[in-house]
Amino acid sequence: LLTWEDERLTQILLERLQRCQIGVNFNATVRSPDDVPCDLAVFTAGFTPNAAAPAEAGVELGRTRAIRVNDRQETNLAGLYAAGDCAEVNQLITGRPVWIPLGTTANKTGRVAGSNAAGKRARFDGVVGTSIVRVGGLAVGLTGLSESAARQEGFSPVSVRVDAPDKALYFRGRRVTVILVADRATGRLLGAAVLGDEGVVGRINTVAAALTAHMKADVFADLDLAYAPPYATVNDPLLVAARQLTKLLN
Ligand SMILES: Cc1cc2nc3c(=O)[nH]c(=O)nc-3n(C[C@H](O)[C@H](O)[C@H](O)COP(=O)(O)OP(=O)(O)OC[C@H]3O[C@@H](n4cnc5c(N)ncnc54)[C@H](O)[C@@H]3O)c2cc1C
Repeated sequence: LLTWEDERLTQILLERLQRCQIGVNFNATVRSPDDVPCDLAVFTAGFTPNAAAPAEAGVELGRTRAIRVNDRQETNLAGLYAAGDCAEVNQLITGRPVWIPLGTTANKTGRVAGSNAAGKRARFDGVVGTSIVRVGGLAVGLTGLSESAARQEGFSPVSVRVDAPDKALYFRGRRVTVILVADRATGRLLGAAVLGDEGVVGRINTVAAALTAHMKADVFADLDLAYAPPYATVNDPLLVAARQLTKLLN
């Protein structure tokens, strides 16, 4: 259902969608309006980089079909910069170019392109691929690589899923789910999904910072995260997940 492929994640999303009375048909092709009786159809069949016009003008595209740029947002044509949704960006975990069109990256790369075009020397190192979306009231935070994506990128990933309260139960703690992925060969964290009604954005951003710092699971497991009963648990679900991951890695 989301680009961060993981059966556990899909299952949670399906449950939430079902609760909202939204049905999901996988691997089903709609050939005519009669296939799905409905009053209104909204057709959203994915999207691609809008890079045809620059490509015709001689701007080189990358393997993702978005514009290939260096860390100064320069294209192959002198004096021509690209930023935002039309351009590729470096994936900090794999070191390979990716196309992750988000407003967060568009702002940063636009700033770098503008600075360089105006004569400064600015650089953008890349992204780990962090996003958050709301599905039927459930916050779904994603960062880095899922286990299957990590395998495709040549890592030997291991992952854990932890379900734990987001804060003390006597402060109405609610379930937060953490899926954490690490590389068996190096112990390095590779990605995470965090799902819950509350307390998701802070947790996914914490993992995003750790991924950017190439942090290993055992170091992450001892991070000095804040705790007070109205806001968190003494063993944050992130740390519990990292500890379980460390056991698997050892
Ligand atoms: C429904 C929706 C929700 C989103 N929510 C989020 C979110 O929550 N968080 C997040 O990080 N990102 C989100 N995004 C993505 C974010 O909006 C984009 O990544 C961001 O706007 C990209 O900025 P941009 O400047 O590269 O492109 P755009 O904002 O698309 O701007 C490109 C502009 O160029 C114009 N243009 C195109 N072709 C030409 C041409 N040939 N000549 C002249 N002008 C042209 C277009 O009309 C447009 O005005 C969302 C996107 C959508 C569609």
